[in-house]
Amino acid sequence: MADVDITSLLSSIVGPERVTDKDFDIIPYSRDLSPARQKFPTHVVMPETKEEIQEILRIANEHDIPVYIRGGGTSHWDAYLPQEPGILLDMARMNQILDIDERNLTVTVQPSCTFSKLDRELRKQGLTYLCSEAGGPAMTVGGSVMKAGSGPHSTAKFGYHGDSDVITLQMVLPNGDIVETGSAAWPGAGKIKRQCLGPDLAGMFIGAEGVLGVCTELTLRIRPVSNFKERLLTMMSSLDDVIEFGHFINRHVGDEYLQGIYLWVDPNEPDAFLVMMDVFGYEEEIIDHRKRRILQWLKEHGYESMDPAPAHDYFDRILTGLTDIFAAGVWHFFGAGTIAIDKIRFLYKVWKEELVEKRGYKKAGFGGQVVPRSWLAFMVTNYKEPEEWDEIIKLANEINEICHEGPLVPYGIGGKDGLMPYLASHDTGYYRLLKMLKKTLDPKNILQRGIMIPKEELQ
Ligand SMILES: Cc1cc2nc3c(=O)[nH]c(=O)nc-3n(C[C@H](O)[C@H](O)[C@H](O)COP(=O)(O)OP(=O)(O)OC[C@H]3O[C@@H](n4cnc5c(N)ncnc54)[C@H](O)[C@@H]3O)c2cc1C
Repeated sequence: MADVDITSLLSSIVGPERVTDKDFDIIPYSRDLSPARQKFPTHVVMPETKEEIQEILRIANEHDIPVYIRGGGTSHWDAYLPQEPGILLDMARMNQILDIDERNLTVTVQPSCTFSKLDRELRKQGLTYLCSEAGGPAMTVGGSVMKAGSGPHSTAKFGYHGDSDVITLQMVLPNGDIVETGSAAWPGAGKIKRQCLGPDLAGMFIGAEGVLGVCTELTLRIRPVSNFKERLLTMMSSLDDVIEFGHFINRHVGDEYLQGIYLWVDPNEPDAFLVMMDVFGYEEEIIDHRKRRILQWLKEHGYESMDPAPAHDYFDRILTGLTDIFAAGVWHFFGAGTIAIDKIRFLYKVWKEELVEKRGYKKAGFGGQVVPRSWLAFMVTNYKEPEEWDEIIKLANEINEICHEGPLVPYGIGGKDGLMPYLASHDTGYYRLLKMLKKTLDPKNILQRGIMIPKEELQ
């Protein structure tokens, strides 16, 4: 690599204005939203087309240079920071909405279209994507789908983005081949169905955090906007009741009633469970009926519905304006992942007994959201001073170790300062298959080297 002028090679692909190797450009890309150690790319490139990405990957393979991929940069588990010196693709310029198909209720976007922009444009036509995480206005559709996002908004009803809303993907593989998944793989068929030709290849890329390919286009399901909304808020006094409520949403009334639920427990009041709810429906009567059923459940279990203003504020601003949540400092999530509805007891016990009581750490709250049949649960702390990083990483690692020995499936794997060590320590058939896929598709381990799979395991 030393003898080759990589900057010139990259410039010949994208032009000099969209590539840089200058320190002052590169430094802002050396951190993510976590206390992960600072890691510097050698080059930052801003591609605009899939063909440019093909060319960049060709050069990377030829000269054995790792390539990392950054969407909106809002993940917080060392998921795109260069684990070793290499090229960082800043995908920000591939942010267009390519097609809104009102009749078939699909939308096709480039990966770095933000959810905020997408929803704004869809709403002009009375449509919406609906599902969303809580990562704020910078998070992109591609970044979110590539790490299989889920959140408090609508995922109680529809599941993680990847579960049902992704129809087709266009991916550039590490060797530069372009793949369309689902019906898009069949010439002339269009982007209408996720699983119809052989295995579900979109599923292979969703959640892979970019290690198997660069996403260059996505087609998603959309739906009409509902003109009616109801939010509810209650405070429960027992986790058992929260669990039963989770089952009620999931089972008794199906996933029809709530489009979102959010649980929050403050470390200074570890036995008070705040539950915010987002009621879904297209007709006023239906919303009223659903609301009544939920209120009836709450009453039967001795709970009151409280002033819903905080729930309105929270759910209304998820897509467009949660910037003030950073007033408390940067967020760091740990002890986070997917867990069965009943088993959230395990995670809560670790949080309360190991973190709050034994270690006396009272800055981290406990929360989660119900997605069908499970929780996406987490512990989260805020920090302002860089001096706190080492302490937070040490604490988070200790807690992660306990949590991932149990039934918590890690969520957001990332690199060595993320959860990669926990995934790599489980020698399962799943992990062996993942490594086999990676070796086959990316024999030189060019894409996202050191993310999700340690480099040594691919040699
Ligand atoms: C306050 C806060 C709250 C959050 N709440 C939630 C939540 O409720 N649920 C949740 O799931 N997350 C949450 N997040 C995390 C984060 O917002 C999400 O993970 C978001 O989806 C990441 O999108 P992004 O565009 O910023 O992706 P990035 O962080 O840029 O990238 C995410 C991953 O995808 C890869 N990637 C990005 N673009 C591509 C591409 N085109 N092709 C292939 N790979 C690509 C990256 O390499 C990386 O591994 C939260 C974050 C914050 C700060």
